[in-house]
Amino acid sequence: MKAIGIDIGGTEIKAGIITEKGKILKQINIETESNQGKKKLIQNLERIIEKLDSKEIKGIGIGFAGDVDSVAGKIIQSPNISCMNKVNLVKELKKKFKKKILLQNDATLMTFAEAILGAGKKFNFVVGLTAGTGIGSGIILNKKIYSGKSNLTEIGHTTINFNGPKCSCGNYGCLELYVGIKPLMRLTEMKLEVFKSKLSEMWPLTPKKVDEAARKKDKIAISILKEQGRYLGIGLTNIVNFFNPDTIVLGGGLSNSDILINEAKKEMKLRAFKRVSNTKILKAKFKNHAGMIGGALMIFKSN
Ligand SMILES: [Zn+2]
Repeated sequence: MKAIGIDIGGTEIKAGIITEKGKILKQINIETESNQGKKKLIQNLERIIEKLDSKEIKGIGIGFAGDVDSVAGKIIQSPNISCMNKVNLVKELKKKFKKKILLQNDATLMTFAEAILGAGKKFNFVVGLTAGTGIGSGIILNKKIYSGKSNLTEIGHTTINFNGPKCSCGNYGCLELYVGIKPLMRLTEMKLEVFKSKLSEMWPLTPKKVDEAARKKDKIAISILKEQGRYLGIGLTNIVNFFNPDTIVLGGGLSNSDILINEAKKEMKLRAFKRVSNTKILKAKFKNHAGMIGGALMIFKSN
């Protein structure tokens, strides 16, 4: 059996023909071009689906970087692809493609792929956290997506500092204001104004370069990653104390730095209840393809 999996992110749309075992048989990547408006974006999607579609395709599973109503097939809102706010994407695509089409949040699909075929496949209760523009999350219980009452679980927007700055979601001091690509870069810039580091010669800076410098024993780079790790550790503590999952799978920018992950585990050990403080923290297996694979798996596992 085959399905089309699509991952719509802020900068790129990835689409592929995927087997039940998660093998990608063919893949097409295009720019999202969200500044061109919703009509263009939907046309682009139709174009790539036409290229991948055939009689053998069971359905189309789509991951979207934003808040979605998966039952209605509608995008509620997205910080980075705002042209698609309030668009019923499934309805639009069904005008052309008479197949099963399902829509889900991208981080939820990343977690789903990891829970079914990836790092969490041996476990029944998997929580996923992934760092891209913000912190996305997913909860997979007994191999099924846990959606809550209205398909919304946003662990990245739980408060870890009640005196913290206001977040785009309306809350204050959210986890994603402290951990992830943007906070890491902000912290790096702040530290470089005061301290000397090899990083000053490595502009333009990226999280990868900070990690490289840290592995070469640059003290400032190490301190930046450890600080990020401590914040992540507070987030992990909240998850294990609240849910007691079998494992937490880390994806996106969170899974790249061992220094950061080890510090997060240390912090979790200090803070969490002893019986849950050893919860397995795993790195995602599918990296950039998890959203796409999760999309296809959503089709295979649906009735
Ligand atoms: Zn928030």
